[in-house]
Amino acid sequence: MKTLMEAPLDHIKEQFFSHVPERISGLVDLSYNLWWSWTPEAMMLFRQLNVHAWIESVHNPVKMLQSIPPNFLEEAARRPQYLRHYDIVMDRFAREMNQKSTWFAEKVPSTTFLPIAYFSAEYGLHHSLPFYAGGLGFLAGDHIKECSDLGVPMVAVGFMYGEGYLHQYINADGWQEDIKETLTRDAAPVTRLMVKPGEQLVIHVPLMEPAMHVAVWEVAVGRIPLYLMDTDLDMNEPAHRSIFSRLYTGNLESRLQQELVLGIGGSEVLRYLGIEHSIVHLNEGHTAFTLLERVRQRVEEGSSFQNALQYVRDTSVFTTHTPVEAGHDRYPFSLIDRYFSSYYTELDLDKEGFLRLGADPMDPQNTFNMTALALRLSGHRNAVSREHERVAKRMWHPLWPDMEESRVPLEYITNGVHLPSWLAPKMELTLDEHLGRFYPRWLDDHDSTVLWELMHEVSDQSLWRAHQALKRQLFNRIREFKRWKWIQENAEPINVVAGGTLLDPNALTIGFARRFTSYKRADLLFTDTARLKNLLNNWWRPVQVIFAGKAHPDDYEGKRILQRIYRFACQPEFSGRIAFVEDYDEQIAQLLVHGVDVWLNTPVRGMEASGTSGMKAAMNGVLHLSIPTGWWPEGYNGRNGWVIGGDTPDDQDAQRLYEILERDVVPLYYSVSEDGTPHQWIQQMKESIRSISPRFSARRMVKEYVERYYIPALISCQESCSVEKSG
Ligand SMILES: *Cc1c(COP(=O)(O)O)cnc(C)c1O
Repeated sequence: MKTLMEAPLDHIKEQFFSHVPERISGLVDLSYNLWWSWTPEAMMLFRQLNVHAWIESVHNPVKMLQSIPPNFLEEAARRPQYLRHYDIVMDRFAREMNQKSTWFAEKVPSTTFLPIAYFSAEYGLHHSLPFYAGGLGFLAGDHIKECSDLGVPMVAVGFMYGEGYLHQYINADGWQEDIKETLTRDAAPVTRLMVKPGEQLVIHVPLMEPAMHVAVWEVAVGRIPLYLMDTDLDMNEPAHRSIFSRLYTGNLESRLQQELVLGIGGSEVLRYLGIEHSIVHLNEGHTAFTLLERVRQRVEEGSSFQNALQYVRDTSVFTTHTPVEAGHDRYPFSLIDRYFSSYYTELDLDKEGFLRLGADPMDPQNTFNMTALALRLSGHRNAVSREHERVAKRMWHPLWPDMEESRVPLEYITNGVHLPSWLAPKMELTLDEHLGRFYPRWLDDHDSTVLWELMHEVSDQSLWRAHQALKRQLFNRIREFKRWKWIQENAEPINVVAGGTLLDPNALTIGFARRFTSYKRADLLFTDTARLKNLLNNWWRPVQVIFAGKAHPDDYEGKRILQRIYRFACQPEFSGRIAFVEDYDEQIAQLLVHGVDVWLNTPVRGMEASGTSGMKAAMNGVLHLSIPTGWWPEGYNGRNGWVIGGDTPDDQDAQRLYEILERDVVPLYYSVSEDGTPHQWIQQMKESIRSISPRFSARRMVKEYVERYYIPALISCQESCSVEKSG
């Protein structure tokens, strides 16, 4: 093992930030730790330097500090008020990063545990780090942010995708064009692990032919380091390099290579860095090869295969995320054999024994299934909602053919979202005025259900004012985006209209933002266009709908649905009341879940494991209108949103949706009392915030993982280590 360079940030400061005055040079440290992104006071420090530079950098402080004219910085360093705020934030930053008395430390007092290693193919942390395609990535990002807040010892492993996920441009015909953009690594909050100045750490990945190397980057997510593997190195084969530049390549062999680098290369990185870890948590089957590597290490240390397997099961957690068949990676045995033939004996197995570990229950003679591998090698397995547990048990029953389906050893921990990241700062301030009066540390205890009873004490006026302000902010930002395109890209006038510039801040606004794929049924609302037109164009009670989302580059059907909606957005008969906001990302998600009135979710039942965007919306008082699927059957209580269709068949959903909108949603929104506020609507908003925030927070979720899986696994790990030592 090579020793790493001390404090690479010092070197980066010299290289890129020498113009930042010493008095406020802590801003550079802060900009490289995403902690700022969920701490509104820290975000304000950047914004206060110069609002235009902040917007210009697309809220990326690393980029902003590099490009901002030095006189703005010098001026800030002389302003007493700025310095006061700076000192307070920096003090808090230092304290929180070094805090010893955390929830986890209290929970598990006596022993110091080795960290948990978290593996995921995507991470959704901030739009300046485009390493996500959708919900799976945000779940991983929110999980590690929450582990940081709770003091759970963890290291995370993933990929540096040089081209991230593709950008979306909609052409005049409404067709999605996929735009490639190479990440400027130096302007993103990532630091390269260096051996010495000018020499990066490079690690060899086993089993790859021709030889493959990765450089390693670190993202600081509060207290949690996320290590990202980067294959874009001159020493790698050009064809090899491009495989890893993007998420989820379509080619089967390339995909296997990605997963091999993620699972086996990822373990190698941790070993190389000298990071011993106690247990692993796999976010979806893409990462399952890391379990083989764990078995191999135990066998190398002298265990039998069976003992090694037992140990790995006791200390591995696997979360499955998709009920969609195509979401599970399968490889022909011949392909697996090509990469792993030298590996079997290292596990003390023969070829058959090895392939059996991943044999697909539907085709056990020919096909290797990554989810089956993960399920067989992890002792703690979970789905991500109550409904998903039922679906997953049915799906994986063939792995436990002797058991009844209901006893298949797979439980559920319902997903949650990182509240400090998704609650609008403006909403947080409003809640603080009311909740904080009686419970000053409410944000620290935001998974406590009793605390949220205080929602009853929030005044209607102030909640409505905050919501209206967030709604206006959404429309302003949509216009800004379009003005930008108008100037920069000579956008067609119709593209400017369809992008939402005609939206009316006083109309009831429905948001629909998700991946465009057929089962999500983005066009369900357009089943009866005459009825929809009447609904939208009602003179006294207008309704408008904002769409956003990308189709996977190879998903022709998804692109076709998108085009259909886009064309409606261009039609004057819809009066500018349908909008399509291009290039959905974390930033646009924030604006939408804060600023619309209703969040619409219309997938086919049973196809969505959980869904999380509705939770983000509901915490901000945006009412959820959804098919009873994923997390919603657990969240809905009859007073905090609406269910479309109950147990009726899927083909009646459109009718049910129109009925609810016409009968319930629109009248409620427009039933305004003399003071101009819709009190009954606001009642539902409060009920939504009260009932959803604590239960669907990542805090509740991570605590469940710790109590139900991490602690027992940590104990197994310790016992087995001490047994081996004493034996
Ligand atoms: C939360 C989020 C998602 C996941 O939302 P779903 O409910 O699963 O559709 C996807 N993309 C972005 C940008 C998000 O913020």
